[in-house]
Amino acid sequence: RTLEDTEGTLTLGDIFIAVKTTKRFHQSRMELLLDTWISRVREQTYVFTDEEDDGLKRRMGDHAIFTNCSAEHSHLALSCKMAAEFDTFLASGRSWFCHLDDDNYLNPQALLKLLSSFSATWDVYLGKPSLNRPIQASETLPNNQTKSVHFWFATGGAGFCISRKLASKMVPWASGRNFLSTSELIRLPDDCTVGYIIECKVGGHLLPNALFHSHLENLQLIPPSQLTQQVTLSYGVFENKLNVIELSGPFSPQEDPSRFRSLHCHLYPDTSWCLQAAGW
Ligand code: UDP
Ligand code: MN
Repeated sequence: RTLEDTEGTLTLGDIFIAVKTTKRFHQSRMELLLDTWISRVREQTYVFTDEEDDGLKRRMGDHAIFTNCSAEHSHLALSCKMAAEFDTFLASGRSWFCHLDDDNYLNPQALLKLLSSFSATWDVYLGKPSLNRPIQASETLPNNQTKSVHFWFATGGAGFCISRKLASKMVPWASGRNFLSTSELIRLPDDCTVGYIIECKVGGHLLPNALFHSHLENLQLIPPSQLTQQVTLSYGVFENKLNVIELSGPFSPQEDPSRFRSLHCHLYPDTSWCLQAAGW
């Protein structure tokens, strides 16, 4: 292999994966992720939460990051975690920053394949647009007047990725305390703030990608044969109904309500608990 090959080949180790969670989801959501996809990419995955937890520490070591952010669903508490994710990424030296919620399934090989078609030395912001048009916000100016701004953003609940080149341009608005003050300027959640920084401050653009999915879309519409190619999936409640991917087994909906364990067995059939699953 020549040096050029080595530099050109992206590996999972080049990707920084941040998962945002909160104390009340350590058991109900994080255990599922740790048993499934995180077990395949533990070395590059970092979990950001708001309360010390020996169980989480035992499984993630120093990649369980206890922020001092409050355990609230407020814009400021969530932006505080995003700021911690961003700063830990910058310090890590890795080439790509990817953010996920704790109700996302990440397919590491699909992510690697997708990111391999770009270079981290370009400005890249990839994800699923939250709306079918740019969001409008009013930005507070230093003289306390306001200005109307429009921008696209990737919904945090579907996961998104940012190249190091673009992330380094975001530093004046996104690192340390700056993320919080930026998010206060537009008074919108963390994922909107990321889009605002990229599109309104840095001059970058969201590149919409159909392989990222949140539970705000009907997950039943993804053809089962295409599930293993998706970069992210999710589960949750939508319009008062359980919104999950359509996958017949190996686990029953009772054993595996999110369908993540079943999906994991399709991707990694050699997993010990997949071999024991009913019918396999
Ligand atoms: N979350 C958090 N603090 C909270 C509530 C939620 O950090 O007080 C995280 C949660 O762990 C998840 C994300 O924010 O990663 C989105 O939360 P959730 O899925 O409950 O809400 P929704 O998808 O409806 O926005
Ligand atoms: Mn969610």
